Amino acid sequence: MEAIHERLLAWFDAHKRDLPWRGVGDPYAVWISEVMLQQTRAGSVVPYYRRWMARFPDVGALADADLEEVLRLWRGLGYYARARNAHRCAQQVRDGHGGAFPSSAARLQALPGIGPYTAAAVASIAFGEAVPAVDGNVRRVVARLFDLPDPPPAEVRDRAAGLMDTARPGDFNEAMMELGALVCTPRSPSCGTCPLAAACRARATGRAADRPLRRRRRPAPTRIWDVQVTVSPRGRTLVVRRPREGLLGGMWEFPAVEVKDGADRGARPMRIAEPTTGAVVELPPVTHRFSHFTAVYRPRRVEVAAEWGETAGRWVTPSELADLALPVAQQRIAGAAGLLRRGRGGHRDQGGTTLFMRA
Ligand code: SF4
Repeated sequence: MEAIHERLLAWFDAHKRDLPWRGVGDPYAVWISEVMLQQTRAGSVVPYYRRWMARFPDVGALADADLEEVLRLWRGLGYYARARNAHRCAQQVRDGHGGAFPSSAARLQALPGIGPYTAAAVASIAFGEAVPAVDGNVRRVVARLFDLPDPPPAEVRDRAAGLMDTARPGDFNEAMMELGALVCTPRSPSCGTCPLAAACRARATGRAADRPLRRRRRPAPTRIWDVQVTVSPRGRTLVVRRPREGLLGGMWEFPAVEVKDGADRGARPMRIAEPTTGAVVELPPVTHRFSHFTAVYRPRRVEVAAEWGETAGRWVTPSELADLALPVAQQRIAGAAGLLRRGRGGHRDQGGTTLFMRA
């Protein structure tokens, strides 16, 4: 009987999806695709990847770019720390490695934002290093193949390394991920069409759907912000920039205050240094799910008599607003306030929500 890796690779060769980063062999392209694929499905990543590579075709182009533009191109993919880290990493590759990525997983891991998984993926796919790349898909396949209820990371890595085809390590890693994404799926694995079915212990014991055991997640807390969309007589609006580090770091947003302990909507403190002209419109709330909490934004649109100096902020026209790195939820608020509208060229974020593009 063929070894597991032979069956897996034969299946991969016949069934792998045609994705733009496959078979390129360029460490930069592999790296960008892997960063984008974290938390996001391959099908959703493709248009972002194409746009990105058209604008930043190599690590030097990314390193030289302004962070603002990098964040803008990332808009809609979420988890913006990945974009900031990618930018920093590119600068380190440019400045500390002569513009060439290190070729081993160990050295790749020393770069900002590159963890064990991404390092292994780049090292194996672009440089042929025989090192297993373990993501959630691979962990699931390994847990099922060996009927392991809750294998620790080191065991998954060792088992995957034991299965690996050392002649084609990159293809092996991609094949494991592809199997997990297309066949050995979380809730209803397609064991009937799986190339590894004959060797799969969980299938034999009827426990495939229970491997690995699912951890109960605590429900994410909800946090509420009151948001003010301030509009001046010149039709400009005030936006402020978030601190460079932390959640949505470096991106722009409308001024907001977090509402604690169910504070009343009418009593919210808000940065209004000028009297309003009377036009205050409450806008529908916007909900956005982050990895560790759900944000509810309660926006209102306020027309003021004059603009004022704002050290942390900037008054921008709707057209300038469309060009800022504005997170998806803020784009929705801007759309509801009539400052951005759905335009030709609008695209969808990973949750299937249409983004607001330049008016
Ligand atoms: S036989 Fe089923 S459970 Fe086992 S690896 Fe294949 S799809 Fe997954």
